[in-house]
Amino acid sequence: MNIQIILNFSSSWKLVAELEALEQPANLLQNFQKEVLELLNLMKITTTSQITPTQNALTLKGGEDLSYDYMVIAMGAHLRFDKIKGALEALETSGVCSNYSPFHVEKHFQEVLTFKGGNAIYTYPNAPIKCAGAPQKACYITDSILRKRGVRDEAKLIYATSLNKIFGPESYIKPLEKVACEKEIEVKTRRNLIEVDSNSKTAIFEVLDVDGAPTGETESLEYSLLHIGPPCSAPKALRSSPFADKTGFMDVDGETLQSKRFPNVFGVGDCMNTPNAKTAASVSSHLKTIDKNLSQVMLGIKPKSKYDGYASCPLVVSRNSAILAEFNPQGTLETTPFNQKKPSRWAYSLKRHILPALYWNGLIKGYWNGPGTMRKFTRMFKSE
Ligand SMILES: Cc1cc2nc3c(=O)[nH]c(=O)nc-3n(C[C@H](O)[C@H](O)[C@H](O)COP(=O)(O)OP(=O)(O)OC[C@H]3O[C@@H](n4cnc5c(N)ncnc54)[C@H](O)[C@@H]3O)c2cc1C
Repeated sequence: MNIQIILNFSSSWKLVAELEALEQPANLLQNFQKEVLELLNLMKITTTSQITPTQNALTLKGGEDLSYDYMVIAMGAHLRFDKIKGALEALETSGVCSNYSPFHVEKHFQEVLTFKGGNAIYTYPNAPIKCAGAPQKACYITDSILRKRGVRDEAKLIYATSLNKIFGPESYIKPLEKVACEKEIEVKTRRNLIEVDSNSKTAIFEVLDVDGAPTGETESLEYSLLHIGPPCSAPKALRSSPFADKTGFMDVDGETLQSKRFPNVFGVGDCMNTPNAKTAASVSSHLKTIDKNLSQVMLGIKPKSKYDGYASCPLVVSRNSAILAEFNPQGTLETTPFNQKKPSRWAYSLKRHILPALYWNGLIKGYWNGPGTMRKFTRMFKSE
């Protein structure tokens, strides 16, 4: 069997982004480069420019044609700063940054270290986004650093979200509202960043109604620091392929993760139209599902394994505490027997010390297929 992995490796920047403020960046970057270079040696790296599933064929950037019997699409979601007027230009100016961009992660950290005062605004888009908790995590970490630097009183921290609440899954809303309140972070709901004017250092938001539709009103806020949570879309080669639904994401059966139109093709990760939050934690459960289902399809059997919608977001809320959110579209799906809604040191330690190892040694190498089995055991000890 000839298996080729085709990608342009960039995903692990997200882990760097998350941990950046918690550890010396130099250490992380060195580690990141070493790990990625080792992986790159194992892979064929290129980009898919066109997929023609009716002929089980795809064309790579550079013109090489490939055919396949089975295929797994794991193209992720693309960052669309270009959908916010002026954002791409603004990212190259002082004060504007984003943990989502490999080119502006380090800049965010530097901006916080040199921040002198004014509005520090963290935005969440009116569109799909990977790791929906990342913009507010960045805001909490900034609060902690500014306090440590003794300049928190000079800053007004604003979390501006297009949602009507601070976070999607209901059970974590109150704990996160409490965190924001204690940290004196103003949460502005139903605000969608549509333009950045880097000359006047102004962020312009459209005001949304209860259904998330634009009201026609706008609000302009001056910023000293602006962290952009970018809208995301499916990559172009996927959007323009017959795999896509009308939103551009890969149209799959939400349980088996099999393409609805092409049964010899499965999806994994952020590129799919499944209703789960787009997280690396979800990918682990996707892998468990397609491991079984792809094998069954190869044997001519109908796929039976079902993805449970699992997603997780360890929300770091200070320099030593985190809320470990684990959920699916129906509600919480927590793994540990402890109270995960309360900020805790153990959740922080898990995020800081265990998850990076799990990511590099388990998920990336295909050994970690999510905490589902572990949860069956720990549930026996769970007390709400
Ligand atoms: C700041 C930040 C913090 C996050 N924190 C967490 C967290 O704490 N916990 C968590 O679980 N998740 C977190 N996430 C989300 C997590 O990183 C993603 O959900 C995860 O990486 C999705 O994996 P994926 O393989 O689907 O996509 P990706 O990791 O984006 O990988 C997709 C790959 O496909 C490649 N590709 C795209 N187009 C093509 C093409 N045409 N041809 C070939 N290859 C292509 C891309 O280059 C990329 O390498 C975070 C994300 C961000 C941005």
